[in-house]
Amino acid sequence: MDEITTETADNAIRRVVILGGGTAGWMTAAYLGKMLPPTVSITVLEAPTIPKIGVGEATVPSLQPLFFDQLGIPEEEWMPECNAAFKMAVRFVNWRTPGGPHPVPQPLDGGTDHFYHSFGVLPYCDDTPLSHYWVYDRLAGRSTEPYGHACMREVPAMDALRAPRWLDGTRATSYAWHFDAHLVADFLRRFATTKQGVRHVQDEMTSVDLDERGFITGLRTRASGTLTADLFVDCSGFRGLLINEALGEPFLDMSDHLLCDSAVATAVPSDSATQGVEPFTSSIAMPSGWTWRIPMLDRFGTGYVYASRFADRDQATRDFCALWNLDPERATLNHIRFRVGRNRRAWVRNCVAIGLSSCFLEPLESTGIYFITTAISRLVAHFPDRRFDETGIDQFNREIEFMFDNSRDFIQAHFYFSPRTDTPFWRANKQLRLTDNIQEKIATYRAGGVINAPDLTAKQALMGIDVNTDVWTNGSYYCVLAGLGVLPDQPLPGLADRPASLTKAARMFQEVKQQQRELVDTLPSNHEFLRVLHGR
Ligand code: FAD
Repeated sequence: MDEITTETADNAIRRVVILGGGTAGWMTAAYLGKMLPPTVSITVLEAPTIPKIGVGEATVPSLQPLFFDQLGIPEEEWMPECNAAFKMAVRFVNWRTPGGPHPVPQPLDGGTDHFYHSFGVLPYCDDTPLSHYWVYDRLAGRSTEPYGHACMREVPAMDALRAPRWLDGTRATSYAWHFDAHLVADFLRRFATTKQGVRHVQDEMTSVDLDERGFITGLRTRASGTLTADLFVDCSGFRGLLINEALGEPFLDMSDHLLCDSAVATAVPSDSATQGVEPFTSSIAMPSGWTWRIPMLDRFGTGYVYASRFADRDQATRDFCALWNLDPERATLNHIRFRVGRNRRAWVRNCVAIGLSSCFLEPLESTGIYFITTAISRLVAHFPDRRFDETGIDQFNREIEFMFDNSRDFIQAHFYFSPRTDTPFWRANKQLRLTDNIQEKIATYRAGGVINAPDLTAKQALMGIDVNTDVWTNGSYYCVLAGLGVLPDQPLPGLADRPASLTKAARMFQEVKQQQRELVDTLPSNHEFLRVLHGR
């Protein structure tokens, strides 16, 4: 992305104040510091007494190309500073099996109850994704192999806890990262303040000054006076101190689509040398929600995301601690209550909300940091001058709305189509309304069609996700729906009349098998790669 130049010098934005020093605040500061001309001063106001949320630990592949690469920071530089590890997929555990909770996949259909939503590339055969040839065989009883094992070359490598890169550093497949969120915020703070000249004010905002048009003119603080600016970025977390409290923009609650509103989280030490490091996030189904497991070297982050309507804090704590054999009296547990939904508008007048102050979906598909990355790149794309023309603001708001609502629908589908009905939580999910957007996609899927084609190309997947496209492609829907046991009612219409394509696809399935063996045979273990990377 090109840096912005100041053509309209008279009206140019001169000062930006960012309220909040969590992941959103420091990502925004570092990115704007790089992309805006040096004539723009950037200040981060952060209250040391108000803790950041600190639990955003799993990401999606666009983080490197859309964020770190733009700042000129290679993986080799930031990963060791943030105790980062690799993530090739989300592994869903026991989303089909009643009972539990069990931390490991339970027996199912001759295998175990787990499937991957992988970042890998789904091959195409004659302009049709391999998923559709798999369905063609599956519905005719010619194949019993699960979708991922049949179509995705990286699945056995994940089962074998391999790294997504060879030891010389070459990438074998697309991946994202796990990291310690506090270390990331610290790393970005150092980068923004020492390399981009961002000013850091450690103080608490006490009130907001508005002019007669309702624009923000300054943030009053306890001890540092009033911070004035042309543009204010609200990164104050769930309370949305500027966008919601000062400007009164309504927050659209979406708990009629997603029931979880609470989490209990902790970090658990692990013996990586003997157990290895899983190169994926696990999402383990629970009685009233699900638990994430985010492995790093020598520890994993974990949290039970639950619906307080169905489990109170004590019950959730008991279930969570039982899962990992933790003593509830002695474990350091972080209890979090969250809001689900988005602001009606993320950008109002001269205030842009980014991070939890803007929108939040439960972290089932690790969307939090992805939303931040998208928002800051769109802010730069529509960067205003002091006239704050509504055209760019409206476009920004539409883009955030699409990004969010589309992801909400995809995540709701996980719960809706899980066959589990063994607890009130799982039954209640089946009673919720699906939007027209997702219903259309499901209808396409059931009719054997391709949802949201084309899938990412190999290059796009390696580079990350293009912000302007619907990120949840046919490959994502297949991973999740087929993984949950939901199959199309019929194969792709016309596929049976393409014998040459069917023969070619049969060869491609063999090639996938060959590639799977090669990856398992040649890739180092994730533990070995990380140990070398971190110098431990
Ligand atoms: P916060 O971290 O809450 O930061 C708010 C900042 O505002 C703090 O610095 C605070 O000091 C400051 N502040 C507040 N009030 C004032 C004031 N009056 N004056 C001055 N400063 C003030 N995302 C992912 O991508 N992957 C995940 O796996 C993931 N897991 C999550 C799990 C849970 C349970 C939750 C709740 C979120 C998860 N997220 C995840 C989302 C992720 O945590 C957030 O998107 C990310 O941390 C950004 O938070 P933030 O910076 O917006 O807010």
